[in-house]
Amino acid sequence: MAAFQLAQAGFRPVIFEKRRSPGWKLLVAGSSGLNITYDAPVEEFARVYQGPLERFQALLAAFPPEDWRRFIESELGIPTFKGTSRRWFVEGMKAAALLKAWVARLESLGASFVFQAECVGVESHRHGGVRLSFASGETRDFDAAVFALGGGSWERTEKPLRWPTLFKKLGCGFDPFRA
Ligand SMILES: Cc1cc2nc3c(=O)[nH]c(=O)nc-3n(C[C@H](O)[C@H](O)[C@H](O)COP(=O)(O)OP(=O)(O)OC[C@H]3O[C@@H](n4cnc5c(N)ncnc54)[C@H](O)[C@@H]3O)c2cc1C
Repeated sequence: MAAFQLAQAGFRPVIFEKRRSPGWKLLVAGSSGLNITYDAPVEEFARVYQGPLERFQALLAAFPPEDWRRFIESELGIPTFKGTSRRWFVEGMKAAALLKAWVARLESLGASFVFQAECVGVESHRHGGVRLSFASGETRDFDAAVFALGGGSWERTEKPLRWPTLFKKLGCGFDPFRA
């Protein structure tokens, strides 16, 4: 989603993914029916999350569930429907079509993907941007980097998770993951 915003604003984002293909966990999530959102006013929805209520109200007001559903329908061309228990789903209920359409839409806007590229280092480079280093030994320089590395669920082969050490090395604080 961050890459989509950047690409729409005219930038050319490059998405690095450590796996061989994108959206692996999204596919796992969709294996038994991908629930895309919940039918509740922002006030009520914010109470579903743990943590400061005002923070989640502000986040949901800035990007309400209705905008997310509109994005899926109008930008990705996938119909959605409301099931029982006030949950919303994509047509067919699987994540594969959503993921395929999303990747195609990103590429049509000029975003590109690099797979099997695990980021293992971050530092400033002398021109004021950021230098990323990868497990392969390669380095790449960019104006800016957005990290969206996911949580710890379903990472069966990576215990403990590797990416938090990257930020610990930079002196960033880290709260242990919890559901
Ligand atoms: C069984 C299951 C069912 C679920 N069902 C639903 C559902 O119905 N609806 C719903 O909304 N959510 C569901 N979820 C939750 C949903 O899958 C997650 O909330 C979502 O995938 C989080 O997205 P993310 O982009 O933050 O992280 P992720 O999807 O985890 O993406 C992060 C990506 O970063 C990559 N990465 C990590 N470290 C590096 C690195 N150093 N360098 C390069 N790449 C790296 C990872 O390989 C990963 O592909 C479910 C989850 C599970 C496990």
